[in-house]
Amino acid sequence: MMTLPQQHTPMMQQYLRIKADYPDKLLFYRMGDFYELFFEDAQKAARLLDITLTARGQSAGKPIPMAGVPYHAAETYMARLIRQGLSIAICEQVGAVKAGAPLERQVVRVLTPGTVSDAAFLDESRDNLLLALHGENNHYGLAVLDISGGRIVLLEVIGDEALSSELARLKPAELLVSEDWEHAVLREYRAEVRRRAPWEFDDETAERLLITQMQTHDLKGFGCHELSAAIAAAGCLLQYAKETQRAAMPHVRTLHVEARDESLLLDAATRRNLEITGNLSGGDENTLASVVDETRTAMGGRLLKRWLNRPLRDRAILRARQESISQLIERHGYATLQSLLQQTSDLERILARVALKTARPRDLIALRTTLGLLPSLEAELAHYNATRLSTLSKMIRDCPALHDLLMRAIVEQPPVTIRDGGVIARGFDDELDELLSLSENAGDYLIQLEEREKKRTGFSTLKVGYNRVHGYYIEISRLQAQTVPADYIRRQTLKNAERFITPELKAFEDKALSARDRALQREKYLYDALLDTLIPSISDLQMTAAALAECDVIANLAERAVHLNWCCPQLMDEPSIIIKNGRHPVVEAVAEHPFVPNDVVLNTETKMLIITGPNMGGKSTYMRQIALIVLLAHIGSFVPAEAATIGNIDRIFTRIGAADDLASGHSTFMVEMTETANILHNATADSLVLMDEIGRGTSTFDGLSLAFACAHFLAEKMGAYTLFATHYFELTSLSDEIATVTNIHLNAASQGDNIIFLHKVQKGPASQSYGIEVAQLAGVPREVIQLAKQKLQVLEQNAYHVKANALPEPHQADLFAAQEKSHPALLLLADINPDQLTAKEALDLVYALKRLG
Ligand code: ADP
Repeated sequence: MMTLPQQHTPMMQQYLRIKADYPDKLLFYRMGDFYELFFEDAQKAARLLDITLTARGQSAGKPIPMAGVPYHAAETYMARLIRQGLSIAICEQVGAVKAGAPLERQVVRVLTPGTVSDAAFLDESRDNLLLALHGENNHYGLAVLDISGGRIVLLEVIGDEALSSELARLKPAELLVSEDWEHAVLREYRAEVRRRAPWEFDDETAERLLITQMQTHDLKGFGCHELSAAIAAAGCLLQYAKETQRAAMPHVRTLHVEARDESLLLDAATRRNLEITGNLSGGDENTLASVVDETRTAMGGRLLKRWLNRPLRDRAILRARQESISQLIERHGYATLQSLLQQTSDLERILARVALKTARPRDLIALRTTLGLLPSLEAELAHYNATRLSTLSKMIRDCPALHDLLMRAIVEQPPVTIRDGGVIARGFDDELDELLSLSENAGDYLIQLEEREKKRTGFSTLKVGYNRVHGYYIEISRLQAQTVPADYIRRQTLKNAERFITPELKAFEDKALSARDRALQREKYLYDALLDTLIPSISDLQMTAAALAECDVIANLAERAVHLNWCCPQLMDEPSIIIKNGRHPVVEAVAEHPFVPNDVVLNTETKMLIITGPNMGGKSTYMRQIALIVLLAHIGSFVPAEAATIGNIDRIFTRIGAADDLASGHSTFMVEMTETANILHNATADSLVLMDEIGRGTSTFDGLSLAFACAHFLAEKMGAYTLFATHYFELTSLSDEIATVTNIHLNAASQGDNIIFLHKVQKGPASQSYGIEVAQLAGVPREVIQLAKQKLQVLEQNAYHVKANALPEPHQADLFAAQEKSHPALLLLADINPDQLTAKEALDLVYALKRLG
């Protein structure tokens, strides 16, 4: 691209001039029926879209790389690029043809992943967010725009962990940060980060922009005056949105402030581990959302995901949701509501497109249908007196006048775009009707003309016709054409016929053709005016959309509760997590065998459960089901259990398994310890902590010591509700030391060489580890299993002998006794260097074995 402009053709010079304004966007440059991309843009597009890379002309002696897509199919290609995180500038031909100069061209639209609103570019099942982030030391301001939902959200967080957990929740499509701001968190968002000039974060400008956007005097009413960092971020957000939209955003008039302590906090690792809306492999199958979400509208689906991602602590809100769900269940009303909702459309996003003036005719049809359903929805909701349902019913504003307007204005089945007309219905506008009848009544007039001319000339084969190039004509066979009337002017010669025009036909042609053009223009004008008419009603309709979405979620939760046999949890203010016959909603849904329900009691007396049991025994499932039940209770949902009492939990932490974080060069162990450190720093007595197999990534002694110390700290210092699954048998002795610690295990039974997992939680520690049985079950070859069994025996013998020798005389017999029962703890002894074992430790061990034996 470094060649001097004058070496290029005038068209290329124009291209380079325009491209210079959009260096970081793919420039789609319209040339006739194609959009062409050049240079690096072409190479990138060819690679990402798998289209042919060709060449055009020369630049510095080399051909210019070029790739193109036909304009009528361009939307699909653009959507693919946007989904891959790229931004696009669309450059159209705008001027008339002039000899010797390239057509005038202009960028008419800019599409970026975080600001698109067209249905073709969006996934209807998830929010698409633009986020601006402003950091001052340890304090971060976030401003979030959901352009297709018409929402701005401001929030501030303190600390890196809080920042990364909010980003993990919001998953922005684009992340705006200042050019001069660096932070480790940005590494995870390389593709989304957009660097902006530092002055876009100026707080005074930001406040002014926000006030203008909200059309208020000041920001007092929004409760955000103290959020200077978030307001600064909003400044950048609005400038970016304006730059890309090139239109006002009259639908963005609300500003929400979110406070972190309003919600049950989930950090990034917990969100991942609990597989709430995405699974560990990056898909959305087998997630909590996949089981809970049977919503009937796209808006409802998105709202439900927002709820799941940000569970609330305000009991009043949660109880109101429970009340609504209960009422819908009691009166069997959810199904009726759902079938009405099913017929509605994505009102929220349609309104955004109306406001941005990009609504398509079919958006208006969908809007019309939805408006038509509102009276029935209101009537349906009137059957209920639950507080929240009544509020929702009041939020629905049926707009009969708008419905009527849309009924009259738009035809039954309009084409996809307004481009070729045919959208505005007859009878809506006199002028349009007249123009249309002029061009359409041509038929009658032409038949009459044909008759008259046949008579006048006496040629019975004379024909009046029309073609796009030559216009109207009178066609006469070649022979007869010798003797046409004087006012016949030759238009076109065919092989066997001549075509003529007469002054009368010419006059008609002018009128008819111009009527067609004018009708199209009139239609476009009316369509625009129609969108304008809708704009003042947008905020009412947005309220309606919000109500429909929430009705959908509540009806959905009622339906799920009935079909999945869930119960209404009792929300308590006293600290407790008490669940009777709880189930894991996802494992239950996908498992082929019946799910074994389990209880849990965590309260001030029991705060930590040390969970042992064989691999595959169901430890992780048990821990996660408790976390998921707590989470579901905090969105106001019913839960998979027979009964549940859930206290006011402030956070859920998880330390479960770990994939190597290869990208950041951290080992499994490092990731594990970072997550553990986070828990130990941030958990409180109201937190729920899940610890699965910590310490595995290092040597037995290190790991055991760390696991022990962590459990000790959590139980004694933090008093957090903790579920601690471990293979380190030693941890089961913690219950002797700390009164609030209890041992439980998942049971299994051996049947000959086989092992049966019973998945039932039992009191006390597990008595056997079944490692070899599990390996056998997993299909490890028989030979290997045999060898392992032999090795196990030798290890147990050795360990025992060494250990026994180190013990004071009277205890040797105890150890013998323990060994005879082939106690699993002996396995671990094999790893221990006996020389390092003091007599006291050995003694403790024997006591432990005795107790367990
Ligand atoms: P662990 O963590 O002890 O290794 P998991 O919790 O991963 O075991 O459970 C292993 C498998 O056992 C699960 O994938 C599930 O199919 C099954 N399972 C676990 N708990 C139950 C249960 N309560 N009822 C039925 N099946 C279960």
